[in-house]
Amino acid sequence: MKKVLGKKSTEKLTHFKCGVCAKWWAIGDAPDKKTWFCPWCGQKQKFKQDAKGCNCYYL
Ligand SMILES: [Zn+2]
Repeated sequence: MKKVLGKKSTEKLTHFKCGVCAKWWAIGDAPDKKTWFCPWCGQKQKFKQDAKGCNCYYL
């Protein structure tokens, strides 16, 4: 069998849930910003991290 050299890396995956359409998306090594656009419906919204996870509200 031929030897193949692979590559591995670790990334922090952030999950977002849209407050409008309730669909999820995830971004690897997401920048620390609070305002995001839902890739599904396009709604701009703010996210706030609390102990229970994500709270979001629309702008
Ligand atoms: Zn949405």
